[in-house]
Amino acid sequence: MIETQSLDGDSLQARYEEIREVYLSDNKPWVVGFSGGKDSTCTLQLVWTALSALPPEKRYKPVYVISSDTLVETPIIVRYIDSTLERISNAAIEQGLPFETKKVVPNVDRSFWVNLIGRGYPAPSRRFRWCTERLKIEPANDFIKERVAEFGEVVMVLGVRSSESASRAQVMSTHKIKGSVLSRHSTLSNAFVYSPIHAFSTDDVWTYLLQNQSPWGNDNRDLVAMYRNAQAGECPLVVDKTTPSCGNSRFGCWVCTVVERDRSMEAMIDSGEDWLEPLLDFRDLLAETQAPEKKRLYREFRRRNGHVSFITGTDTPVPGPYTLDFCKTLLERLLDTQISVQRDAPPGDDTLLIQDAELHEIRRLWRAERGDWADSVPQIVREKLGRDLNWIIEDNVAFSGDDGRLLNEVCAQRNIPTELVVRLLDVERAAHGLKRRHGVHTKIEEVFRQEWRDLDTVLAERLDGRANDDFALAEADFPDADDEDEVTQ
Ligand code: SF4
Repeated sequence: MIETQSLDGDSLQARYEEIREVYLSDNKPWVVGFSGGKDSTCTLQLVWTALSALPPEKRYKPVYVISSDTLVETPIIVRYIDSTLERISNAAIEQGLPFETKKVVPNVDRSFWVNLIGRGYPAPSRRFRWCTERLKIEPANDFIKERVAEFGEVVMVLGVRSSESASRAQVMSTHKIKGSVLSRHSTLSNAFVYSPIHAFSTDDVWTYLLQNQSPWGNDNRDLVAMYRNAQAGECPLVVDKTTPSCGNSRFGCWVCTVVERDRSMEAMIDSGEDWLEPLLDFRDLLAETQAPEKKRLYREFRRRNGHVSFITGTDTPVPGPYTLDFCKTLLERLLDTQISVQRDAPPGDDTLLIQDAELHEIRRLWRAERGDWADSVPQIVREKLGRDLNWIIEDNVAFSGDDGRLLNEVCAQRNIPTELVVRLLDVERAAHGLKRRHGVHTKIEEVFRQEWRDLDTVLAERLDGRANDDFALAEADFPDADDEDEVTQ
């Protein structure tokens, strides 16, 4: 049974008292996870109010307020979080409080677009939810590890409530330190977790927010408005895999396909934010690629390791990454979406859906791993955005689009898969100029071991193999069949 407490004046004072006691009990700096949602706002406001009552000399430990930005957050939320973090920073300086704000973002090579468009990862689903780890957990954990390296230990202050996430509450109680309100972080050593609102009910959170003014000058009624008319579930700072999925939430990513429909975005559009509509269309395009009957249209039949495997008990290949052609379509559609959104956004909103650094990384991946000799990214960017980025000019070992076309012709004449030759040449190119070409033969061997035949040939062999197996089985079942035939002849 979930234990909650009613939020009367006494229990609120007890909360403040507890926060102060925990803060003063050691030298570990605090890291407050702030998503902008109601639970983390309530937590930060409680901590802020509690620490304000301490004399200045006792506010000696830094309190970092970190907010994770997946770089695919809904633009309205980005605006809200950015302005809130700015207010928090300014108010902390004015009021002499030890709060410092920090936005944490994924590394470029781990970002949503680099994985989806660059590597061809399929849009995330319940079964393959590759995004949370890369976009949320790793950036937050990197920040915590840096603080651990600096201070030895840290306390993470989270807006986790037992009534909101039973699994998360259970993890916290499993890692609980005896006689303390802290628990150990489930994966990071030297990091501890403290949740001042663990026993709050949803009503307690709203009551607190509406009865107590935001100390950094926000209007908490805006938060109520953001949650209204939408299934605005919480999307807390995700610290490990037990944190619930944040799709279907105002505070989730706009590209989220883990949920079937993005009701939150639909609600925003219904409430007059028409300029977000292209985002919903793009998100729906991603969702469409998940339909079982359409996967073959968008995805390779080979997996990323170059081999073909089959769904158990069927002759259907396990779909691999998005094809390079479809990745190009996605990039074009994304840039079109960016153009529409930037054109129709309210004044002052300079939404950027994909960063230049991500475009550079996608180009590198297409060139290095996906055989894009035509160097398509600069062309697509020029065609859609009418500008050139500061593209890295590769040395003269790079192949061009013309080389690709010539290779295609030669391979077609000799009936050799072009992609196989492209891969072999790319292995050679990567080793070009190296003094020690150690490993190049292993890499060439790996390329040859991959599946280079077309799907029909692979399937025909599979069915053939099964027919032979059936024949062998039949023979085993009737060991005297030949003899019998002889007798009857
Ligand atoms: S909101 Fe959706 S896309 Fe974003 S990290 Fe969470 S599950 Fe992934």
